[in-house]
Amino acid sequence: MNDQLYTMLRTFGKVRLSEPLSKHTTFKIGGPADYFLVVEDSSKRIDLLKWLDSEAVDYVMLGGGSNMLVRDEGYRGVAIVTKDETYDIKGTTVQTGAGVVTVKLANETVKAGLTGFEWGVGVPGTIGGAVRGNAGAMGREMKDSVKEVEAYIDGDVVRLSNQECGFGYRHSIFKENKGVILRVWLELEKGDAKAGMAQALGVLQFRNKTQPKGFASTGCIFKNVDFESSKTQLLTHFDEQDEKIQQFLRVGKISAGWLVEQAGLKGEKQGKAQVSEVHGNFIVNLGGAAAIDVLTLIEKIKTAVYNTFDIELEEEIQVVG
Ligand SMILES: Cc1cc2nc3c(=O)[nH]c(=O)nc-3n(C[C@H](O)[C@H](O)[C@H](O)COP(=O)(O)OP(=O)(O)OC[C@H]3O[C@@H](n4cnc5c(N)ncnc54)[C@H](O)[C@@H]3O)c2cc1C
Repeated sequence: MNDQLYTMLRTFGKVRLSEPLSKHTTFKIGGPADYFLVVEDSSKRIDLLKWLDSEAVDYVMLGGGSNMLVRDEGYRGVAIVTKDETYDIKGTTVQTGAGVVTVKLANETVKAGLTGFEWGVGVPGTIGGAVRGNAGAMGREMKDSVKEVEAYIDGDVVRLSNQECGFGYRHSIFKENKGVILRVWLELEKGDAKAGMAQALGVLQFRNKTQPKGFASTGCIFKNVDFESSKTQLLTHFDEQDEKIQQFLRVGKISAGWLVEQAGLKGEKQGKAQVSEVHGNFIVNLGGAAAIDVLTLIEKIKTAVYNTFDIELEEEIQVVG
């Protein structure tokens, strides 16, 4: 333990040493973080980040831990949870701390009679994590609603417009510049609370039918594949008029889960990790899975899909450690 680091971190929040990150990820996998810091007072965040940067201490932000796989060796730095859970809805504008739970905020927008964020009721994790990864579902994504983002980047607190966030498919500029998202402004539309609730319920019912239940996971492991750039490979195996191919053409993406299924890997096991029987893009923790099991399975899948279709799958999840 570095005594000076420990003492300093304690001035910013509650510190735990060698905290297993398996306790803080939806996958329930991951070795210990040397330092685990919970910052309750969000006004201390900037000073903390500036100090860590000035001391060249490695840190990683933890939201809901629902889009990450932490290696078994854990993380040699500071894992930071910030408890900024305040939000405010005025007219059609929603101002929210990065630590607010996405499901909760989506529910609140529906209750407030706003429309545009109903899909968020099914996405685990926090708004910070959702903006960084440009999370999306049901044909919509964060990019459609984000108006502005306040972030800490390279020692400065800056306010970025939607355009400046560089959103792309499961991508934002924060993945490149390692910025920490602090606050977010969403712009929604006036809707009808009753219709919104029905829509949100539909979202949950759809997810219940299509996603594995009762197992820890970290959602979709791989990004869906751009249709245009991989259609030639796909069409050497399938007829263009095939209903599934037409569906991919319409949305511009080839479902990664479908590719995994076609490559024959649904249900494949490695240790206590398994490719879900329900959804080919989910790996589930059958209980006590190690990160190495998941990483091995990921490599197996990528090899099988490449060998079958000549298509490279790319991870959507963040590997930490
Ligand atoms: C059952 C299940 C279903 C899912 N369904 C979907 C879905 O439909 N659509 C979808 O897009 N995703 C889905 N996911 C993945 C996940 O819920 C989203 O990616 C989510 O937005 C991640 O948020 P988080 O707070 O959990 O991020 P975390 O997993 O905690 O972090 C993810 C990354 O963001 C970084 N990060 C976290 N907070 C901040 C911050 N404030 N500033 C900067 N960086 C930060 C972390 O360091 C990490 O690199 C699903 C996951 C599960 C388990």
